[in-house]
This record gives sequence, structure tokens and C-alpha cells, in this order.
Amino acid sequence: VPELRRDPLLNRWVILAEERADRPISRVRPGRSATPADCPFCPGNERETLPEIDALRDAGSEADAPGWRIRVVPNKYPALRPDPGPAPSGIDLFARRPGFGHHEVIIEGEAHTLSVTELAPDRLREAFRVYRERFRALSRITGLESAVLIKNVGLAAGASIEHSHSQLIATPVAPPSLETELRITREWSERTGRCLTCAILAAERSARERIVWRGENLVAVCPWAPRFAYETWILPARCESRFEATADRTLDELAEAASRVLGAIETRLEHPPYNYVIHSAPFRFDSRATYHWRLAIMPLITQAAGYEQSTGLYINPVTPERAARDLRAALA
Ligand SMILES: [Zn+2]
Ligand SMILES: [Zn+2]
Repeated sequence: VPELRRDPLLNRWVILAEERADRPISRVRPGRSATPADCPFCPGNERETLPEIDALRDAGSEADAPGWRIRVVPNKYPALRPDPGPAPSGIDLFARRPGFGHHEVIIEGEAHTLSVTELAPDRLREAFRVYRERFRALSRITGLESAVLIKNVGLAAGASIEHSHSQLIATPVAPPSLETELRITREWSERTGRCLTCAILAAERSARERIVWRGENLVAVCPWAPRFAYETWILPARCESRFEATADRTLDELAEAASRVLGAIETRLEHPPYNYVIHSAPFRFDSRATYHWRLAIMPLITQAAGYEQSTGLYINPVTPERAARDLRAALA
């Protein structure tokens, strides 16, 4: 049974999930390797996943049978279990709590595509709406505090199945990086009375050199201190803290921005493995506080190794100024 433990030295939670060790990782090789016949996410193989939680389907089609466009299923090798279990326990040094949480898989199209840039534009728009609906559904479950959506594309980026899909993981605690960000944001706004991300975006708009793309509601920017080469964030230009509250228009713009920025990255870097992640404020975030949800895109062109993983200090060989210039050129 999975368990959350808090590191007494760093005050940081980790998830211990032995079930994850059993998952097959041999399916993804460089390039397209699985065929629809042996892909558990292709239509016709619905029985290879757990029963679906939700799906966009043709009228008259049955659950767990073909006829779907987007499918949501529980992860077969979950990092967390949807059973709340006993109360948090462990004292002093060794704090622990049950590995309660939800771990879902969102299959973003019926076609056997690898990258979201291969999805039809309307399918990608539907995918972002399904992301929002699943954030909403999980936000209503007692005991869950926050959720993160992760997409891994390519074996090096952690994908164990190549068919385009994302994972949504909801936890009873905020992940360590979000906790740190919220604390820093709160301290900054207590000191200045303003929103930290709004201030950063205003500075980026006048500097211009790290901005990749601007829409009506969203901005794509290579952040000032990126950990990864060509790391790009797409985020709301105005304060919008919870992804589940995003308006339809903004979501459609997000689908377009994600597809264009990823297309530029794939052109410039010859289809690298990548991760994208949707960070959002906790479900019951104080509406007076400020935070901006974001989609962070991280191409994998260098491998984070021992130094980065053990220190948290990353070495990035490409400045964000150069990355943004390259991506703007690829977009034009
Ligand atoms: Zn497939
Ligand atoms: Zn703001």
C-alpha cells in the first residue's frame, strides 16, 4: 500500500509506492514502435485498461468499447490509492500518512499519436477541456488538497506507453515545489501588496527578450532562471490561480499556444522527448491570495544527472534569451 513520508531533514514529502515497480517500461522505444494491435490505449483494446472514469464518446457507444475520442481511466500502477485509510500517524522524526490520492490517465485521442502536435486542433481543445473537468471532479473530493497534470513524451521523459496520454495526480498535501512557491508568493505580496507573477510578467513585457508568444489571455515565456534548455511557460496574463476555473476561451487559447510552442520546439530541436506539466493553486486556495496556474513545457535535450538530482542546483547550457529567440524564429 502506498505511503507518504515526510523527510525530517528537509521537511518534504515523498511517496513510497512499491506497486509502481511492476509496471512495464519496455513498450516505448525511440520512434514509433507499438502498433495499434499491441497498444493498450488504442481503440479495441479497452479491456487492457481499468474501467473508464469518463470519456467523450459517440452517441450510442458503450463504456470500455470503441467509439470514444478521449478516455479517462485509473492508472493501472497508481502512485496513490483512492481510499483515505487511517489518520496521519508517526510522530516527531518519522511523520507518515496513508498514500491517499487519485492517479488518473487521460488518453487524448483515438489515433496512435506520440506528441500532442500530431492531434487534430479540435481534439487538442477537447483534451484541455477534459483536463479541466478532471481537475474540477478531483477538487470536490474530501481530503484532496491539490493536483498536477503531467505529460511524458518519449522514453527518456518517462513515458512507459507511447500513445499520447497525460497523468493527473491528486494528493492530500501540496507538492514540495508548490508549497515553496506559495510561501514565496505570499511573502512577496504581504511586503508589496502586489502579485509576484503579475510583476514578473510586467517586467517580461518591457524586457521583451524572453517572450515567445502573446495571446489575448495568455503569455508564453522562457523563464528568467530555467532549469532546462528551452523550458517554456504558458500562463495567464492576469491573476488566475486555479486551473479548474479557467474559462473556455482561455482553454482554447491554451490548446493553440501549447501546440504552436511545442511545434516550434519540435522544429528547432528535432522532436526531443519532453514533459509538460500543469501547475495550479491548491483546490481550496484563498481567493484573496495571488498565484497564476501555468503549463510548463520542458524539452529534454540534456539529462539531469547526479549533481542536479542531489543538490537541486541545475546546470542549463542554453540561456532563456537564446531559447526565446530561437522559438520566436521557429514560430514565424
Ligand atoms: Zn495506441
Ligand atoms: Zn497576478
